[in-house]
Amino acid sequence: MIKVDILLAVSIFLSVPLCIVFVLWIFYNFYRGETTAPDEGQVRQCPYCTHVFLSYQEGGIQMCPRCQSYIGDVRSPAIGDARSPGIGNARGPE
Ligand SMILES: [Zn+2]
Repeated sequence: MIKVDILLAVSIFLSVPLCIVFVLWIFYNFYRGETTAPDEGQVRQCPYCTHVFLSYQEGGIQMCPRCQSYIGDVRSPAIGDARSPGIGNARGPE
């Protein structure tokens, strides 16, 4: 029979979960899929209601998901930049 000292038993009891956590940490850090942050050009801000939303459409006329205003092809103005608002607050048929 294998005799185990109490210190060895405690150290094994504490080190096994640490090793498992370490292996899982390595696995999730090096083998997880790459998460892509949205490009800066995809983040749009409605010039009317200042709602910030993600836009996956390149150029063209877009619609604000909150106030339903049409937004022209404004090259993603920086947040707080109050340049030309685009087409205008032309709402669709209601
Ligand atoms: Zn809006």
